[in-house]
Amino acid sequence: MPRRLKVDMHIHTYYSKDSDLAPEVIIKYAKLKGIDCIAIVDHNEIAGAFEVERISKDIIVFIGEEIKTESGEVIGINIDKKIKGGMSLRKTCNLIKKNGGFVIIPHPFDMLRSGIGKNIYEIMDYVDAIEVFNARTLFNHFNERARKLAVEEAIPMLASSDSHFFYEIGNAYTIVESNSEKENILEAIRKGHAVLFGKGSGIRPHISTFLVKLRKQLRQL
Ligand SMILES: [Zn+2]
Repeated sequence: MPRRLKVDMHIHTYYSKDSDLAPEVIIKYAKLKGIDCIAIVDHNEIAGAFEVERISKDIIVFIGEEIKTESGEVIGINIDKKIKGGMSLRKTCNLIKKNGGFVIIPHPFDMLRSGIGKNIYEIMDYVDAIEVFNARTLFNHFNERARKLAVEEAIPMLASSDSHFFYEIGNAYTIVESNSEKENILEAIRKGHAVLFGKGSGIRPHISTFLVKLRKQLRQL
């Protein structure tokens, strides 16, 4: 039976150099915030996603990766192999699809955070969904531009928290009508009837990210 699922397809773990989120903390806070389904998308890494999936009992976990391409970041979810960074946008999307994955464009117009911007037109045929609300995007007009494009091009929309710290979990999510099978959830997003919720996370996570990166760099000295 389909029900209303709260979905957040953009969460990081401590496998990302700018996050300190442990798998058990993600599960704990996702439950606390009533999130039913998450995608773990570390920067150029999928090991953390497998760890979260392994310990999750009731929350549906998609394996994913936020991949840095030559022209900005792309998310692949529902994959099972790591895709290396640094390739062209087209090649990267092609590999996500070959891997059975679902292509999400994160914060496309956030020029402070590696959005792919107008390069999205090169890969429109691969795009399954676009983030029209990313809680970490500091300036709302970046999110608004993404929403405008999604409407113009009829691209399914997502709201995502882009959590790197526990207090960001639940700040944004998408509601879809679906049963708990992964293919059904992706199909529900593709249909484009999702309801989006989100509030901006403000400056705090960016300061935390700066401090975590610094701490991890110091540890390597
Ligand atoms: Zn991210």
